[in-house]
Amino acid sequence: MDFFTQALNALKDSHNLRTLRDFKHCGVYIVENPKAKKLLNFASNDYLGLSTQSAAFLDSALMKENAFFSSSSSRLLSGGFEISHKLESLLETMFNKTCLLFNSGYHANIGLIESLSRIEGVFFLLDSFVHASIFDGIKLSRARFARFRHNDLAHLRELLQKNAGKYKECIIVTEALFSMDGDFAPLKELIALKKEFSNLKIYLDEAHSIGVYGDLGLGLAKSLGVENEVDFIMLAFGKAIGSVGACVLCEINAREFFINFTRSLIYSTALPPINIAFSYFVFSHLADFNAQRVHLQELSTFFKKNLSLLVEKHADAQENADFTPQNLVLGNSQILSLVLGSNERALKAYEILGKHGIFAPAIRYPTIPKNTARLRFSLTALMQQEHLEQALCALEEFFAHKH
Ligand SMILES: *Cc1c(COP(=O)(O)O)cnc(C)c1O
Repeated sequence: MDFFTQALNALKDSHNLRTLRDFKHCGVYIVENPKAKKLLNFASNDYLGLSTQSAAFLDSALMKENAFFSSSSSRLLSGGFEISHKLESLLETMFNKTCLLFNSGYHANIGLIESLSRIEGVFFLLDSFVHASIFDGIKLSRARFARFRHNDLAHLRELLQKNAGKYKECIIVTEALFSMDGDFAPLKELIALKKEFSNLKIYLDEAHSIGVYGDLGLGLAKSLGVENEVDFIMLAFGKAIGSVGACVLCEINAREFFINFTRSLIYSTALPPINIAFSYFVFSHLADFNAQRVHLQELSTFFKKNLSLLVEKHADAQENADFTPQNLVLGNSQILSLVLGSNERALKAYEILGKHGIFAPAIRYPTIPKNTARLRFSLTALMQQEHLEQALCALEEFFAHKH
C-alpha cells in the first residue's frame, strides 16, 4: 500500500476523513447540486448575514474607486493602496490603537505569534482550546510555552507563579469567543492578573466575536470597555464581517516591529483592494446592525433552552452516564454545541439531521477532546425561530431512535 492510501485509510478507520464539497448558497440554505435537497446551513460564520450586503456595496463609489482584483505584490513592495491605510485609520479611531492589516486570520496569528517569539525572554501561556493558527505560530517559533486548561484561571495562575519570575515577558494567548465551545474568555479576570504579574501581556483573538458583540459590534474587549488593557487584539474579517482579511490592533512600536518581522505579511501578496474596500464598507456601517445582533442573541437563547430540554428528556439515550444538560449543551453565544460522545455517534446524528434537511457539522476528536464529539450549530441573524424548531425536530428523531 502506498503512503497516501495508508494515511487516508487510517483517517477513514477513525471516522476522520475530510472531503471537499461545493455548495450553492441561498440565504439560510445551501444546496450541493441541482438534484440534492436544500439544507438549512448551521455551518456558516456569516453571523449577521452581511454577505447579503454586497449589493449595496456594488453600487457604491467606494467599490468603483477600488475595483482592483489584485494588489500585485506584498505591501512591503508596491501592494499598499490608499484603501489599506483608510481601513487601518478607521479601526484605529474605533479602538484607539494602531492597526495593521493581514491577509487572513490564519496569516495574522501564525505570523504575529512567530514574530512575538523573537522577544528576548518571552514565555507564552495558551488556553488549550485556542485555534490551530495560534498553535502553528507556536510551532514555528523558538519560544517556550505552556498550555492552561480551557478558561481555567486557577491553572493559569499556577503556571504564572511557576514561570513569571523566570521570564522577562509572559504573553497570555486566548480567544474572546471560542469556536468549539461557544463560550467566552474570562477577559476581566485575565486583565486583573496583570496587577499580580507585572510582566504580563494579553493577546486576544476576536475572530468569532467581532461584529457580534457590543452595541457597536466591535467585539468582546471593546464591549467590556477593556480594549486599552489588551495588548494585541486580532480581528478576522471572514466571519461576521462577511469579508476576508484580518488585522492586529496594538501599540505603535509593536506595529512597526510586526511590519519588520512578520513573515506572513512580508512574503505574501497583499489582499486585493476590492476586498479591503468591502471590509471598510462593513466596518463603517457596523454600528447599524444592532437589530441583527439582538435577534441573533434571542435565537441563541431560544435554541439553548430547547436543546437543554431535549437532552434532559432523552437522558436515557446518553452514552456518558455522568452527563448533565450543562455539560452536553455547550455555548452561550451564536455558537452552540450538542455533545454526543464518540465520533461515530456524532456522525450518525449528522447523517440523520441531513436527511431532515439540516446541515450541522460533526466536530470530532482530535479537533476536540476525546469522547466529546459533537454537532456544532452556528446561528445567523438570517434565521428565524422556525428554522431552529426544524433542527430540534430532527434531533428529536435522532434521540427517539436511541442512537
Ligand atoms: C477562523 C479563525 C481564524 C482564521 O481566520 P481566517 O481569516 O479564516 O484565516 C483564526 N482564529 C480563530 C479563532 C478562528 O476561528
